[in-house]
Order: sequence, then C-alpha cells, then structure tokens
Amino acid sequence: MNARKIYPLIVVLITLSVVGILFIQMSWINNAIKLKHEEFQRAVDNSLKQTREEVFNKFLTKHGVVTPDEGSRLFYLARYFSLEGAFNENEVDEIIKKELKNNNIKQPFEFCITNIYKNIIVQSKGFNPAQQDGAYKMELAPEDSYRARETLYVSIREDKNLIIREMGWMIVASIVFTTIIVLAFAVTVRTLFNQKKLSEIKSDFINNMTHELKTPLATISLAIDALTNEKVIHDTDKIKIYSGMIKEENRRMNKQVEKILQAARLEKEEIKLTLQKLDAHQIINKVATNMALQIQEKHGAIDLRLAATDPVIEADEVHFSNIIFNLLDNAMKYSSEEPRIIVETLKHGNGMLTIKVKDNGIGMDRETQARIFEKFYRAHTGNIHNVKGFGLGLSYVKAIVEAHEGRIKVESAPGKGSTFTITLPATH
Ligand code: ADP
Repeated sequence: MNARKIYPLIVVLITLSVVGILFIQMSWINNAIKLKHEEFQRAVDNSLKQTREEVFNKFLTKHGVVTPDEGSRLFYLARYFSLEGAFNENEVDEIIKKELKNNNIKQPFEFCITNIYKNIIVQSKGFNPAQQDGAYKMELAPEDSYRARETLYVSIREDKNLIIREMGWMIVASIVFTTIIVLAFAVTVRTLFNQKKLSEIKSDFINNMTHELKTPLATISLAIDALTNEKVIHDTDKIKIYSGMIKEENRRMNKQVEKILQAARLEKEEIKLTLQKLDAHQIINKVATNMALQIQEKHGAIDLRLAATDPVIEADEVHFSNIIFNLLDNAMKYSSEEPRIIVETLKHGNGMLTIKVKDNGIGMDRETQARIFEKFYRAHTGNIHNVKGFGLGLSYVKAIVEAHEGRIKVESAPGKGSTFTITLPATH
C-alpha cells in the first residue's frame, strides 16, 4: 500500500480508536456512578431494616417485656406493636440517625411515620409531605401483625458531589490522559501532513530544477555542435552568435545555481553578514543598470526615484545587492505587459530607510501574499507561461532583511501590480 492511501487510513483508524476509547471511558464512569448510587440505596435500605429492629427492641424494653425466645418475641410484637403514642419524634430521629451512621451515611434526613390510613403520626420538624413520594419506605409492622401497619418514610438526599469527589481523581485522570492522547494525535497528524506536503514540494522543486538546468544545457550542446560544423567554423559572425548563445545560457545557469545556493545557505542557517557602510542608492543604481538590457528587451523601464537623504546603511554588500536584484527580477518576471518598475527610497525621522519596489505586473490575491515568503512557494501564474523559478527568491529576501534587523511587506491586488516595501535601520 502506498503512502497516499496509508495516511488517510491511519487517520481514520486512530480517530475511530480515540472515539472508541472515549466512549468506553464514559460508559465506565457512568457505570461507576450507577454502582455508587446502588451502593447508597443498599446502605439506606440496610439502615431502615436495622431501624425497624431497633424500634421493635425499644418497644419491648419500654413495655418491660422480656421474652424468653424469638418465637414469643415475634408473637408479642404481632399482637401489641403499635407506634402510635409509643415513640416521640426525637426517639425515632435518634434511632434512624444511629443506624444511618452505622452504614456510613452522614447526610441530613427527614422522616415521617404513617398509620394504616396514611395519616402521619410522627414526623421530623422539617418534613414536607411532598417529600413522601421520593422517600425511602419501610413497613414497621412485624410479620403477621394483628394490628394496624405503620410505615416509615425517610427522605434523604443522595450527595452527588460525594460521588464526584470520591471518583474525582478517576475522572480528572481520564480527562487528562484523553486530552494528551488527542493532542498527541493532532500533532502527529499535522506533522504527517506537513511532511507529506514537504516531500511533494521537494519533488516539485527537483523536477523544476532539472528542467531549468536541462534547457540551457541542451542549448549549449546544440551551439557547440554548430560551432564544430565545417560551414560555421569559418564564419566569424555565426561563431559570435553561437558563442554569445553559450555565454547567455551559461549566465542563466549561473543565476539558477546561485539561487539554489542562496537557499541552501539559509537552510543551514548560515547567514554570515559582512557588515559595512553602504550607500543604498549606489547599489540600487548598479543592480538597475545591470538589468537595464533585459528590461529594454521587454520594452519596459525602471524609474528610480531615490529621494532619501543620506541613504547609508550598515549592510552586507553581496546579500543587499541580491535582495534588490531578486525584487527587480520578480517585478520584471511577473508582468504580462511591458514592465514599468518604480524604485523609491525614503528616509524617516527615526533613522529608518524605506525602499519600495513597485511594479505594474499581474499582482496577487491575499492568499498568495500570505505565502510568498515561504520557501518553495510559487503561485500559479496562469497565462504567463514563461515565468520560471524555484520559489526561493522571496524567502531569501525576507531572511536577509530580517538578518539586517529590517522588515519587509507586500501590498498587491490581482491585475493591479505589487509593491514590496523594505525598511532597514540606517546609520546616522
Ligand atoms: P520564484 O520567483 O522563483 O517563483 P519567489 O520566492 O521570488 O520565487 O516568488 C514567490 C512567488 O511570489 C512567485 O512564484 C510569484 O507567484 C509571487 N511573486 C513574487 N514577486 C511578485 C511580483 N512582483 N508580482 C506578482 N507576483 C509575485
């Protein structure tokens, strides 16, 4: 199975597993809460049973009955037991409280006891008849009772917080671990996709580079074949044309290799600047002059409006020339008509020097603008077929500008041209 299919499969499987684990954990916690609830109910039931026994014993003691055996005890109770008039509120309260405590229940409670006609005969002070429905219930009558059956109702609120407190560490731990798993998963997926994108970008780059270098090599090879041709060898004009072609292709190849080297140097974070005082205008003039021929070929023009007073910066000459070259080169490359390029400089009161490179080219949308400084990023230039490049130029420009403690920004709109603005600290 290839990587293309395996990545989505892994993502789907892990997502399913995480959802499954979450589901199982929730049902575990739910079960645990249910068990705790049942445990509480059992404890209350036990307490009520013991309360009944205690009430019987107290009844017998109150009547001074000492029964020799269980049989006669039950017989006596069945015949004579009745709560009515025998116990007051405090006595019942005491007994219930004691038995609940024996079963580890310490919550406050309210109670009432009803007779056979469902009339309340004893009740705690705070008892509200509405509580009777949801209350725990216990028949107080002995088996085979001859007399009226009485019923004890105890209303006790289960402390849900207690359950949460007791299971708190479990819930917190499972939330923490699940969050860690989900986060780790998210990071892994992101890395996976980044890697995938990176490997696609790299293979694009290699294809691009091979193509870029093969074309001049093929032209050079053809020109050399032509030069060795008998007819050409004696024709000085033709020799000039062919050697000119070789020189031009050689220059193009050099430019490509230089761009790749620039990027490789950045990759190793090896920006070593040899800082010196430079006249920015002088460098801009030099680069513009070097490019003049190419611009003329495209019937374009560069307009230098170098207005900054005292445009001296502390910079690396080679890198600074490269960034100006890259910006002008792009301004020329990304134009569908005759390139009109304007370079402006301005010195600010705070000692910063601004260099603007404006073009009337194809421009770009916001999404592209946000990504052009990424390494290897290239926008689809649509109908401009002859625009070649590796997507390295602007990432280099940005890195160098930042190494000089400067900033770069772009303003652009599709079809309206672009303006790149560099701000560098100038020397005073
Ligand atoms: P390259 O020019 O080799 O593709 P760059 O890093 O110099 O790489 O530029 C990245 C992308 O930014 C280009 O592919 C292009 O889409 C866009 N771009 C750069 N400069 C301009 C410009 N002046 N006008 C329009 N688009 C530009």
